[in-house]
Order: sequence, then structure tokens, then C-alpha cells
Amino acid sequence: KSSGGADYDLIFKLVLIGDSSVGKSNLLLRFTRNEFRLDTQSTIGVEFAYKQVLIEGKKIKTQVWDTAGQERFKTVIPQFYRGSEGALAVFDLTKPESFDHIITWIEELHRHTPSDVPIVLVGNKSDLVDQRKISREQATRLAEQLNISYLETSALNSSNVEQAFLTIVNSIFYKKM
Ligand code: GDP
Ligand code: MG
Repeated sequence: KSSGGADYDLIFKLVLIGDSSVGKSNLLLRFTRNEFRLDTQSTIGVEFAYKQVLIEGKKIKTQVWDTAGQERFKTVIPQFYRGSEGALAVFDLTKPESFDHIITWIEELHRHTPSDVPIVLVGNKSDLVDQRKISREQATRLAEQLNISYLETSALNSSNVEQAFLTIVNSIFYKKM
């Protein structure tokens, strides 16, 4: 970037939504720092973290907001959603309730953002093959109903984590073009 001293061309705010313990904080840790943590302490939650990605030669600074444990109290402050241009709606492939709650999270998102905000549905913990309760078909059907993409990730073994974030960053980028 030439002028102004900024080391990026565009900045996008993304939010991670979904039930407590589906793996939101670990997806963020994996994407931004390539780390994983076994403990589920709220202390691992940060407000947000940055990661720079490159699309068509443009440096895009993604600012990813995590609920930092607030979701446990079933309410997230409006500032969390304000100005967000994309969302990853995360459920745990081994926890059907977290899948059932996706609609509620997306409704909450839509109360604070335009209805055409890009969203990716993320089924996390794909590494727990023997404990899986939600099939790929079931999740794909929901994604089709909502007209959004679906990806299965594992923050533990890194599978598809970067793809999930890049899918949403690409959607935001091409929506702006
Ligand atoms: P959050 O409450 O949605 O932020 O979830 P966390 O990131 O704190 O994760 C909750 C628990 O699930 C922690 O014990 C994590 O280590 C674990 N976890 C997160 N992602 C994965 C994953 O992809 N696979 C497995 N096996 N465990 C995960
Ligand atoms: Mg968390």
C-alpha cells in the first residue's frame, strides 16, 4: 500500500457466531495463530484477532470478532455485530442442539446486519468421526435452504479452517466489486 501508512488495502470485519463450545475460539486461534487449545476457558477468548489475506493482489486485513464467552448468557452485545460484513455460523457436528440453534443465531445476526450479509455455515470437529451426529446431507440441506455455503472443519487438525475464512472473505470481496 502506497499512501497513508496503512499496510493493507481493505479491512473486513467478520464475526463468529454459534453456541458455546462448538469451537469458535479455536477456529479463530487456528486461523490467526495456527494454535489449538484443549481447555475451554473463557480466558482464551479474545475480543478479536487480525489476519491478513491476499485476494487478487489486494492485501485484506480481516478483523475476526469472537464472542469471548458471552454466548453462554444467550445474549451478545450489539457492538459485537455492528459493522460486520460477514459471518461464520458454527455448530458442532457432534452436538445436534448446536445445529438446531443455527437458525436462531442467523436471525440474531440479521437483526444487526443487512439481510444480504455473506454467511458460511461451518460444521466443526470433523475429526471426531465416531461421535458425529449431523450428516453432511443434513447440513447441506440447511445451507441450501439458507442459500449459504457449507464447510466441515476441524480446528484440531486444521482441516478446512483456512478455506472457511477464505470463503467468507472472498464473498465479501466480490460483493463489493
Ligand atoms: P467456543 O466456546 O465456541 O469458543 O469453543 P472453544 O474453541 O472454546 O472449544 C470448546 C472445546 O472444544 C475445547 O475443549 C476445544 O479444545 C474443543 N474443540 C474445538 N474445536 C475442536 C475441533 O475441531 N475438534 C475437537 N476434537 N475439539 C475441538
Ligand atoms: Mg470461545
